[in-house]
Amino acid sequence: MKKQQTKKKYDVIIVGAGPAGGQCARELSIAGKKVLLIEKSKEIGQPNFSSAGTSKELLDDFDLPLDFAPGKWSKILIATENVSKIWDYGETRGYVLDFAGLKKFLVKEAAKNGAKILIGTSVKKPILKDGVLIGVSYDGVFGKGEAFADVIVDASGPAGVLASELGMRKHLISPLSAGIELIAENVPEKLTEALAFYFGSTYVHYGYGWIFPMGKNSAKIGVAIYNISDHKEINIMEALKKFIAKFPGLENAAFVDLHGAPLCVNGGVDKHSADNFLFIGDAAAQINPLAGEGIRHAMHSARIAAKIILQALDKKDFSQKTLSQYDKEWKKYIGLRWKQSLLISKKIYSDISGKEADKFMKILAELSNKDIFALGFNYNFKKVFNKKTVIKWLKSAI
Ligand SMILES: Cc1cc2nc3c(=O)[nH]c(=O)nc-3n(C[C@H](O)[C@H](O)[C@H](O)COP(=O)(O)OP(=O)(O)OC[C@H]3O[C@@H](n4cnc5c(N)ncnc54)[C@H](O)[C@@H]3O)c2cc1C
Repeated sequence: MKKQQTKKKYDVIIVGAGPAGGQCARELSIAGKKVLLIEKSKEIGQPNFSSAGTSKELLDDFDLPLDFAPGKWSKILIATENVSKIWDYGETRGYVLDFAGLKKFLVKEAAKNGAKILIGTSVKKPILKDGVLIGVSYDGVFGKGEAFADVIVDASGPAGVLASELGMRKHLISPLSAGIELIAENVPEKLTEALAFYFGSTYVHYGYGWIFPMGKNSAKIGVAIYNISDHKEINIMEALKKFIAKFPGLENAAFVDLHGAPLCVNGGVDKHSADNFLFIGDAAAQINPLAGEGIRHAMHSARIAAKIILQALDKKDFSQKTLSQYDKEWKKYIGLRWKQSLLISKKIYSDISGKEADKFMKILAELSNKDIFALGFNYNFKKVFNKKTVIKWLKSAI
């Protein structure tokens, strides 16, 4: 059968139904705009690659129900070769989400409010008129087609399909980092007590490992390797196996899912806007470089984008000048925090030995509950940067 050709005009086309695209579609459709959301996976929620560990603030800020939060955490554990500490908050401080469930929720909300959703469909190319983006061509299970809109948002994650074609993310693609994770059942209870991070080459070379609680005897266990494209000698699956072997009791665990994805963790771009165009979330490497937290930031970037797009639609002005307000607001959101996180991550993930990691851990171990949360989730390094030894240690990374 011949595939159908279609042409449509929307207020906004969003490419990718991840946390960034889903939230952007949710906000714009609630505001009554005509939205087309195009997702290449055949099922919303897929690919289900993220650990989705987060703080309580994500659910509060975005009015999310607890339905897709199977894991709760009230303790943070950080360990290096010989030093470890648990910070106990005494009450739920955050969650480990069912990532697919979060994405389904966002897209359902958008659909309920009138957004059109095209699943199993890949955006292939930007359509330009006189050098300006006016639409996209796509191909998928419902056929080939072209769609047109006043504003087009690339939220396609590390692929950054349109921003790449428009030449706006050349320096983001290399080097590339990556994360891989297992969902494990029959995990010893002791290993599911905290949101746990493990640093230093004793655990993982050029990266870190984590064990995130997912309910009783269930956990997400993974490793991230920074700039893996520069370390051809590293096999990420072997790194995960080595990490798991560090924990007695995990030999009896049952691994029920294995997933992973590339990570662009180099601090992002300054310019996310062109005429009729914005790119947001991981497409613009907005993930925080410290420990790869990306969901909360992807959703905040979507919220900023929705606000700027609504203003542009009101004014009927979709020029880069108007949309560049997004660049300003994103810059305000990250402040100096992303640059500082990148600096610290360059040192921590430079394959530091267990002993060197211990040195940093001794400084972290002095931090209070409030300060470790401020560091891990708000990237507030005041307490750490003030320490002379850390500054000296970091300088050696530059
Ligand atoms: C192993 C791992 C663990 C992680 N753990 C955490 C964590 O614990 N906490 C946290 O906050 N963050 C975590 N992250 C990061 C977080 O998942 C990302 O930052 C977040 O998903 C970014 O959202 P996004 O919407 O920008 O991009 P994505 O989630 O990548 O979504 C992009 C979407 O675009 C679609 N797409 C791609 N190309 C096309 C195309 N051509 N046409 C149509 N659709 C397309 C994709 O299928 C996808 O659905 C982790 C990442 C990895 C890899």
